[in-house]
Amino acid sequence: MNLNVLVLPGDGIGQEVTREAVRVLKQVAGKFHHKLTLTEGLLGGVAIHNVGTPLPEETLQLALEADATLLGAVGLPEFDSWLPEKRPERGLLGLRKALGVYANLRPVRAYAALLDSSPLKNHLVEGVDMIIVRELTGGLYYGTPRGISGEGAETRGVNTMAYSRWEIERIARMAFHLARGRRRKVTSVDKSNVLETSQLWRRVVIEVAPEFPDLELDHLFVDNCAMQLILNPRQFDVLVTENMFGDILSDEGAVLAGSIGMLPSASIGERRSTGAWAGLYEPVHGSAPDIAGQDKANPLAAIGSVAAMLEYSFGLKQEADAVNRAMETVLNSGRVTADLKPAGKPATTTEVGEAVCAALR
Ligand code: NAD
Repeated sequence: MNLNVLVLPGDGIGQEVTREAVRVLKQVAGKFHHKLTLTEGLLGGVAIHNVGTPLPEETLQLALEADATLLGAVGLPEFDSWLPEKRPERGLLGLRKALGVYANLRPVRAYAALLDSSPLKNHLVEGVDMIIVRELTGGLYYGTPRGISGEGAETRGVNTMAYSRWEIERIARMAFHLARGRRRKVTSVDKSNVLETSQLWRRVVIEVAPEFPDLELDHLFVDNCAMQLILNPRQFDVLVTENMFGDILSDEGAVLAGSIGMLPSASIGERRSTGAWAGLYEPVHGSAPDIAGQDKANPLAAIGSVAAMLEYSFGLKQEADAVNRAMETVLNSGRVTADLKPAGKPATTTEVGEAVCAALR
């Protein structure tokens, strides 16, 4: 398969963790005989320094042409006092919009070596392996009318939660497709006992489901789902929900796994003519100026983002599993960065990247 990937290292530790993620991507492509075409572009503070804008036109073009984009992180303290529209972070928002990525995927995995980092008891998190699929471009965060009007006691704030059938159909299909490469179970989360948007959501998900007769579908109200994520997180395989519910539940899911240096994310849009899903893959963490340039950052969130890219954009489950297994081997060996509080001397970013590659060989 031809893997056409744009790399945007960005700022701070983004540069360091992306270097290791690319090292792993090259290793896995070589091992499984895929042709890897890598291009590199500027985004964020580094782009402002070089060409005066956080999202250069050239980067945008490269992203639109690539099957998938691997991003480090953006943000530099020197821009903290700048207006929002000129800051590095605006480049990332512009890129997400231009790529039309409407599904945010957060894989949540409990690694055996990190069970003690989870706030839950070990027996509850052990074996957790789910993916939360959040609708990213509709619902309450985008609906109109919105705003604050009136005066005094009559001042009113308004937001509108609205979904159209086509928005629900495409995210439901995305969740069902993902479940086919996993344990074949989809849980749709809504509040259909109260909200009309949720009644439509549930109705459309049920109507799409017969296209995937080999999959199991169930439904949960969002309040119960928040509880079940803590009581019995192992029951979930693919969890699909609307924008705001997903925003809240994905953060709840994220803490199950432990450290921020471990959390990958994927944002996915339409299918490309090559068959790949256009996607943007990035660690959840930022550019961490406090440790940038010191070879201290944990590269596993970035490396996990490579695994997510292989699985979701290219459908290469075996390759993704190989990366996840290699990460697990490294975690079990204890050769990890300082944020994971190893018993001995912490490993550097570079050493962890090299160790994942060695485990892949
Ligand atoms: P941050 O995620 O960069 O750092 C928070 C804390 O976690 C810091 O102490 C940092 O050292 C630590 N940390 C983060 N990633 C780590 C890793 N891989 N290994 C070890 N430790 C890690 O968040 P912040 O400090 O709030 O933001 C710093 C900059 O990053 C800001 O400019 C912010 O706007 C930007 N930011 C960008 C993104 C993104 O690009 N998607 C996301 C969040 C923040």
